[in-house]
Amino acid sequence: MATQSDPRPPRADEPPPAPPPLAQRLMRLIVLVVAVMLLVVALRGTWDSGRDWNSRISYSTFREQVISGNVQKVTIQGESIEGILVHTVHLDSPTGEEQEYARFITYLPSVGDEGLLALLEENGVEVETLPTGDGRWWPLLISWLPLILLFAVWMFFLMRTQGRMQSLLGLGGSGAKLYERTREATTFADVAGASAAKRELQEIIAFLRRPEQFTRLGAEIPKGVMIVGPPGTGKTLLARAVAGEAGVPFYSITGSDFMEMFVGVGARRVRDLFGSAKEAAPSIIFIDELDSIGRRRGTGLGGGHDEREQTLNQLLSELDGFEANENVIVMAATNRPDILDPALLRPGRFDRRVTVDLPTTSERVEILELHARRKPLDKDVDLEEVARGTPGFSGADLRNLLNEAALGAARRDRTSVGHDDVEEARDKILMGLEREGLALTERELRFLAYHEGGHALLAALLPHSDPVHKVTIIPRGRAMGSTHQLPERERHIYEREYMLERIVVLMGGRAAEELVFATMTSGAEDDLREATRLARKMVLDWGMSDRFGPMASERRREHVFLGEEIARGREYSEETAREVDEAVKEIVEECREQARGTIERNRAALDRIATRLLEKEVLTGDEVAELVKASSEAA
Ligand code: ADP
Ligand code: ZN
Ligand code: MG
Repeated sequence: MATQSDPRPPRADEPPPAPPPLAQRLMRLIVLVVAVMLLVVALRGTWDSGRDWNSRISYSTFREQVISGNVQKVTIQGESIEGILVHTVHLDSPTGEEQEYARFITYLPSVGDEGLLALLEENGVEVETLPTGDGRWWPLLISWLPLILLFAVWMFFLMRTQGRMQSLLGLGGSGAKLYERTREATTFADVAGASAAKRELQEIIAFLRRPEQFTRLGAEIPKGVMIVGPPGTGKTLLARAVAGEAGVPFYSITGSDFMEMFVGVGARRVRDLFGSAKEAAPSIIFIDELDSIGRRRGTGLGGGHDEREQTLNQLLSELDGFEANENVIVMAATNRPDILDPALLRPGRFDRRVTVDLPTTSERVEILELHARRKPLDKDVDLEEVARGTPGFSGADLRNLLNEAALGAARRDRTSVGHDDVEEARDKILMGLEREGLALTERELRFLAYHEGGHALLAALLPHSDPVHKVTIIPRGRAMGSTHQLPERERHIYEREYMLERIVVLMGGRAAEELVFATMTSGAEDDLREATRLARKMVLDWGMSDRFGPMASERRREHVFLGEEIARGREYSEETAREVDEAVKEIVEECREQARGTIERNRAALDRIATRLLEKEVLTGDEVAELVKASSEAA
């Protein structure tokens, strides 16, 4: 049996764009560095050979040449002596002879040559001396060149990657966006239901439109408003609508965007965001999914938290840093207020809280009507019935439902959306896609038909229980078959009889199996779990057990919506725990007995329902009621 709190399929969020392949960039860098190094080695080779321009001669040759008067000029630096040799070449030509010059280099012997200077002078050689080290800077440069080049290459890549990061984040001049600045066309007319939230936000709109009206009287305007509620309930939509109603610029950024940042950038973005919004005041800053940056500090597991904390700290200091009268309102949305850092909720920060809940039946009708506006619906589509059949659906789910229905109708080449399309879309969203190719054996199908028949029969017979909406033995998602009951109205108070009969209906599946096949199947797992949960709630929270009496335990109340279902230690003794268990068992046992008894007395009706289920696979509530009526008349 599928209950009303079936898990809805997860919304497929768009995957973030893949980062440029790092490995590829690294490869390119390595190739470049290797190439540069090769070049350096080659260059060094040519430089070395370049020294051969100054042909090296022995010291004794040098002396001889000086004495022969072939040396005009020398440059002495340290131990090296460079100079120019002049030869007179005799040619067999009319001009006779020609001068030939050649550079040379030689080295002073380490023992020295005291007579050298005198010798040079004697022979009229011009002597130039250079201090040691000077003029010889480039061998040094050459030996450092690889390092210098490496450094240059590194700088080049650093700058380039930074440039790319900046354009990625929109910090550079590339025009990519840092945050979104829009003039919203969304208004409250686009948000159905949520009347309480709209009323609370009305004040914010009034302030943004006419700030003087408030400041004149010395009223302090809230700076931060946090919209809290389950996913898909229209938080983002509401924030946009506030901006649209007030007609002010809307600066929006999503919390998770911050988390894709590189070190130091998240905090910078916050600064930029606040700076721009202040310039454009009056304006709204909207931080969607605040929980992804606003999580409690210092509790993180694993790494990567410094960046988040820096961003959060920056956000807190920006919130404190601007005056109440700067006409900037910071809005944020979250579905996990329980995990937010308490510092965010202090007065003067996000001190206003606006809650949006899952829509009630009448709100679901409004939302459906709003989204059905541009879809041609057949007359047989009753949106009120759809709304009754979709408890727990959020606004986003309802929109998705109508969209799926329209897609289904389009696939079938219809010109309008019919009742079947809507029903199919509902089942699809509720339980996942119809399982394909899962062939059940004859015997399994019979088990299933009697199991679901048991649930349906009891739901149809018991006076306090919700009427049957639909029974099916078509497996979908995790559920093999399912029985849906439709509450005739939203329930706020549960009578004891209603709760007990819900448990009886839950036990009906197993009871029918036992009665007909004299065995049990694994198909009752979810039923038993749900029955036990309900019985436990009756005993512990509602004081509805005879044995335990009207006493509620002090255990923390569950906040199902807001995920506060934090496991807490039991706050009662072992002995009490045992008593609670026994009271729960008593309730479940009693209900089981009632289920068996009722089914036994109406065995004929059960057979009819099961047989018809095997034929048609799906039965409506009316069909079940008819089968029950027919068998009681036959008896
Ligand atoms: P949240 O931010 O709470 O997760 P969204 O604002 O993103 O939800 O809602 C997603 C979509 O669902 C909206 O764009 C809108 O089409 C639809 N929706 C949600 N709530 C409502 C509502 N109350 N009225 C109309 N449409 C809604
Ligand atoms: Zn069941
Ligand atoms: Mg949202």
